[in-house]
Amino acid sequence: MNEIKIFSFSGSGENGRNCYALQTEQGIILLDCGVKRETVGEQVGFYPPLTEEVASQVRMVFLSHCHEDHSAALPMLYHLGYNGEVYAAQETIDAAPGMIRKWMAYVEKQGGSLPFPQSAAEKIRFSPLSLGSNLVNGLPVEVGRSGHVLGGVWFQFPVQGKKVLYTGDMTLQPSSLAVDLPEPCDAAIMNCAYAGQCISQEKQYQKLLELIETTVCAGGKVLLPLPPKGRGSDVLKLVSAHGFGVPVFVEEQIVTCYQELQKKSLWLSQADEQGTCAANLTIVKNENERQQALNTAGGAVYLASDGMLTAPDGLVYYNALKADVNSLIIITGHAAAGTVGAGLFDEEYRRKNDVSVRAEKIICKVHLDEQDALSLQERLGFKKVILFHAIKEKNKSLLESFKERNIEALAGSWPQTITL
Ligand SMILES: [Zn+2]
Ligand SMILES: [Zn+2]
Repeated sequence: MNEIKIFSFSGSGENGRNCYALQTEQGIILLDCGVKRETVGEQVGFYPPLTEEVASQVRMVFLSHCHEDHSAALPMLYHLGYNGEVYAAQETIDAAPGMIRKWMAYVEKQGGSLPFPQSAAEKIRFSPLSLGSNLVNGLPVEVGRSGHVLGGVWFQFPVQGKKVLYTGDMTLQPSSLAVDLPEPCDAAIMNCAYAGQCISQEKQYQKLLELIETTVCAGGKVLLPLPPKGRGSDVLKLVSAHGFGVPVFVEEQIVTCYQELQKKSLWLSQADEQGTCAANLTIVKNENERQQALNTAGGAVYLASDGMLTAPDGLVYYNALKADVNSLIIITGHAAAGTVGAGLFDEEYRRKNDVSVRAEKIICKVHLDEQDALSLQERLGFKKVILFHAIKEKNKSLLESFKERNIEALAGSWPQTITL
């Protein structure tokens, strides 16, 4: 029987443009096809280095979840000639086209160019998978909940007598979502976005609440830019349960995603009864209401969409608060180079753009950290692993720990491969 190769086209040893492959006797099984939201000079966004030749070898595509760093390069794959299906959970199929369109609109607005025509996005053919065992064109695939976002899953493939796991974006301690533990396997392509760190979700939330509290008590405003799906729901739940005794304004999209999530009991660890009914919570639906929210006297909290501060609503709050030294913007996840979310922590950017508002980074955990990655390996017993979602330098200690345990570990892209 021939060997199986697993490798990363991009996304391993970097943060974004996730795209991995299993090369089997039948051709390439592609796992995710996303973009990296980075602007360098004229280039808005980075894509996996796929070619027509590669696309012609791809037999099927599995999509772990809707986020742009996993989905938004799919139109490019079809433009290169792929004409098969993209398999994903129904909730991902519902959300991914909107995410892809949002990415395309962002690139256009930034004056960048897409490596595919607009029409390529219409070519994507999605096909739903159910949780548990599936048979896709004769290929058995096990699907489990990854705890990262509604519709987020891991895939496990028994191929040529070996079992290979792709975790997608995964967390072992989700706030509201349920997570399934995969079966023991031979090899894994594993998320380790927080490689080099051990993060306690409880402590992070505590820090977040304390920072908000001290700022609003002193009469300042707090802006929390959040991706509406996933982290947005978690922080909305946290903030509305806590109160703070000041008005809390939430962009409608975040509330809609939260309400959608509450209807999906299959994906939840437990339904959230208290919901978003806190008395001091106001939903912001348009620019007029946004301006009214900003005119509030004294302390206030704003939950805006897009964690990197690139969406229009978040930028309205940012522009209103950026000169206010008493106010605070809290970034709770990754902010890519070239975004305002990253600029807030860059002295030169702050000087050039007259930014005086305070900025803090408090990671809300939606991925695996160093300890999680090690414990997952212990539980599943795989002997070969490709790490992804963290820049090369951050992977050093985790690679070292795996080496000590005689595990073949890799953080880098093609032509580096792992052979089974
Ligand atoms: Zn994600
Ligand atoms: Zn991701």
